Amino acid sequence: VSLTETLSEIVGKSQLFEGDAIDDRYRWDFMLRFQSNPRHVVRPANTEEVSRLVKAAKASGTPITAMGGGTGSTGGLVVDNAIIMSLERLNRIHEIDPKSMTMTVDAGVTVQAAQEAAEAQGLLFALDLGARGSATVGGAVSTNAGGSRVLRWGMMRDMVLGLEAVLADGTIVSAMTKVLKDNAGYDWKQLLIGTEGTLGIVTKVVIRLRPLPISAQTALIAVPDLDAAISILRSLEGELAGRVSSFELMWGDFYDYVAGFQAQRRPQPMQGGYPLYCLVEALGGHPEADQEAFEAALSGKIEEGTILDAVIAQSERERQALWLVRDDLIEAFNELGKWLAFDISMPHADMASFIDEARANIAAVYPDARAMFYGHIGDGNLHLVTAGPADDADAHHNLDVAVYSAVRRVSGSISGEHGIGLQKREFMSWTRSEAEIQLMKTIKRALDPDNILNPGKVFELN
Ligand SMILES: Cc1cc2nc3c(=O)[nH]c(=O)nc-3n(C[C@H](O)[C@H](O)[C@H](O)COP(=O)(O)OP(=O)(O)OC[C@H]3O[C@@H](n4cnc5c(N)ncnc54)[C@H](O)[C@@H]3O)c2cc1C
Repeated sequence: VSLTETLSEIVGKSQLFEGDAIDDRYRWDFMLRFQSNPRHVVRPANTEEVSRLVKAAKASGTPITAMGGGTGSTGGLVVDNAIIMSLERLNRIHEIDPKSMTMTVDAGVTVQAAQEAAEAQGLLFALDLGARGSATVGGAVSTNAGGSRVLRWGMMRDMVLGLEAVLADGTIVSAMTKVLKDNAGYDWKQLLIGTEGTLGIVTKVVIRLRPLPISAQTALIAVPDLDAAISILRSLEGELAGRVSSFELMWGDFYDYVAGFQAQRRPQPMQGGYPLYCLVEALGGHPEADQEAFEAALSGKIEEGTILDAVIAQSERERQALWLVRDDLIEAFNELGKWLAFDISMPHADMASFIDEARANIAAVYPDARAMFYGHIGDGNLHLVTAGPADDADAHHNLDVAVYSAVRRVSGSISGEHGIGLQKREFMSWTRSEAEIQLMKTIKRALDPDNILNPGKVFELN
């Protein structure tokens, strides 16, 4: 029996695509750096089918890669002659349990659908990111997504209580527990999280929920330099007693470019020309008192001169308008021509010297390149967008070296949150020790000896 027949028998003819019938979205690499060439695309309906598909892949020696919303930006879905298994039909929200503060969802549910379902019950699914409309819970678990509220509620791994996954031999492992504390042996769920589909396929998740904040205070502030931004972050964290949930920084050239581009459609929330801009948000439960405390904390800093200018949202509409400057980026980036994105992290103390060095390294190879920094500064996580140099493998490599050599000097990470995928794997040894990489390979070999699950991502097994 051919693999095509086996796959078709498992998912049904209508859920198997081959050759020209494969839609472009399954050949997708968000950053357009790589060509993806799936041989089969399958769309299972449930965990049982996922398990049978993995067994069929293993029996035929064909690699299989799970796909969520396709918003990952490191080439994690790029395959050659493999099976792409889209989890888009695993899209049920099974339960919201307000007493236990959990929700149980299929892996293919989008982050936004899960957020909205929780909110309808007065609860918060705290993960938030610009790709919320397409990114899936399974993708967020598999990349250990971060986003704009890590400062307060942590990354995706901090929100996972229970997990169901299919291993490389087709075994379904399930711990759909709602228990917060569980030290009964190895935490295999945490082992799978963030492994980019290389150790298991996530099929269901129990998510930890939080009380839904009923007050939000949001401000865009301009500051003179990075030190001022970090000192404002530290003092707001104390003064607002842990309510600061987002602290996003945009360097002046980034703000001027993005807000300038967006001005074609809506007014800029603040004039350009300042050195740095921070989007600060605190979430709480006492609307009036929270707003008062927030404004008092900021006005102290305006008087001191650590804040040069501030716009404080007075309504939900104004709040959303401020967030658009930070979230509505892709069209503005596309206007730059070919752009590359970096996602790096480091201690706050090393950030200023890192940025100087990375800018100098880039300018040394491409004097006319644009290099604009922004990021989840509260978490020490910087994003960088570069544009200008030729769109070829040499230029990508030169820019990678320019940025990651500066990351290496400060012992930072080449991936704060997006993962390694294909894009960054040649630089793994710049950010992880040889012993760490060998340990990762030992785990991979133990769980997936035939290298069936998303092979070649994170590292090459040899
Ligand atoms: C506009 C924009 C903003 C973004 N902002 C952020 C941000 O703030 N923080 C952040 O962390 N990321 C961000 N990202 C990156 C991306 O959204 C996240 O990595 C997201 O978690 C990917 O989810 P997905 O469902 O799209 O996964 P996909 O892109 O489909 O897959 C990503 C990787 O996970 C694997 N995978 C997917 N689903 C499963 C599964 N069920 N089981 C096993 N493996 C699986 C895939 O094989 C692949 O290796 C952003 C992306 C965009 C486009």
